[in-house]
Amino acid sequence: MPGGALASKDTSGADTRPNLIGMDRDDMNAFLSEMGEPAFRAKQLFQWIYNRGVTEFDGMTNMAKPLRAKLAESFRMHRPEVTAHQVSSDGTQKWLLRYDDGNEAETVYIPDDDRGTLCVSSQVGCTLTCKFCHTGTQRMVRNLTPADIVAQVMLARDTLGDWTVTSDKRRLTNIVFMGMGEPLYNTDNVIKAMKIIMDGEGISLSKRRITLSTSGVVPEIERVGQETDVLLAISLHAVNDELRNEIVPINRKYPLKELMAAVRAYPGLSNAKRVTWEYVMLKGVNDSVADAKELLRLIKGIPSKINLIPFNPWPGSPYDCSTDAQIKKFADVIWNAGYSAPIRTPRGRDILAACGQLKSESQRIGKRERMQMEAIQAEKEAAVGISA
Ligand code: SAH
Ligand code: SF4
Repeated sequence: MPGGALASKDTSGADTRPNLIGMDRDDMNAFLSEMGEPAFRAKQLFQWIYNRGVTEFDGMTNMAKPLRAKLAESFRMHRPEVTAHQVSSDGTQKWLLRYDDGNEAETVYIPDDDRGTLCVSSQVGCTLTCKFCHTGTQRMVRNLTPADIVAQVMLARDTLGDWTVTSDKRRLTNIVFMGMGEPLYNTDNVIKAMKIIMDGEGISLSKRRITLSTSGVVPEIERVGQETDVLLAISLHAVNDELRNEIVPINRKYPLKELMAAVRAYPGLSNAKRVTWEYVMLKGVNDSVADAKELLRLIKGIPSKINLIPFNPWPGSPYDCSTDAQIKKFADVIWNAGYSAPIRTPRGRDILAACGQLKSESQRIGKRERMQMEAIQAEKEAAVGISA
């Protein structure tokens, strides 16, 4: 919000200039009008930052030099530091970002034939404790701000060379909120970030290319539908309350009946706008044919696709992944009922970038834990023949 834009250092010498990254149009308008600049300048600034990806005020060539200097005095365009960038043998890339307060979060880019998906984090850690999720073992540290979230997309665009190409050539085409954290425990910031990302004069990703995944924060689902209309993914993982209470504990607060009602009420569901049900395959826990049939009963009448996720192990995880044969049996029940049920190929396992493996260096995993993790994976892949 406006105010204080002119002071650039506090007594400790820290840079106090407001960060333009993370501001929406209204924020920029308010600041620039406070500086006595006309509204079209805010529009130009928005475009330079979010559509062209400039990192220096001098790159804003349609602004006069004195104005560029004035902007540089008053604002920053600050991206977090990349403390690690890894590329998997399958092309998946993972960035570890360090924010100014020292907290870290991970972002993962997954290239496919027809798309490139960025998996973004919404919190450092997670307050929920789903039993199969590594992030859930990390102490929650804080919500990410709109700036922290939008910067994940901007840094990926920097690395992928996406700012200077036409939109049909971009490598980053889709965004999923499936990194660390529960986005609907940080709804205000996530919605603001999504609005910035969707703005047609900025990063300009359409709402049909953004998917928000939630473990089931029922009261917030309606709000996301109304305010953003992005695609919805639900981490279902169990088809009865007894098991879901145990493995997805938020179910104790919002049981299946309420969750299903909230999904049924999500605006505009149709064949072109289907809900994705995420279902992690846990050996002997939730992977029977009876479970698959119950899943069909639950989602009856809801335009749906089912994403079967082979469980990705981590040190100390209390589960094994279902066998290939069992996953296929489960998938067959769903396919035969006419639903799409892709089995998600684990991606980026060699750099610990697969679903549920993210745990930030804010709680850095030690060398020993990493070695254990690699050993578990190698053993598992040999046993079930899943290729990473
Ligand atoms: N908190 C949100 C989004 C992040 S998790 C949510 O739970 O939906 C993204 C997906 O990865 C979720 O469906 C989650 O259940 C799944 N997941 C978590 N741990 C996993 C693991 N070890 N193996 C496979 N998938 C996992
Ligand atoms: Fe949090 Fe999602 Fe992991 Fe559950 S699965 S602990 S909600 S990040």
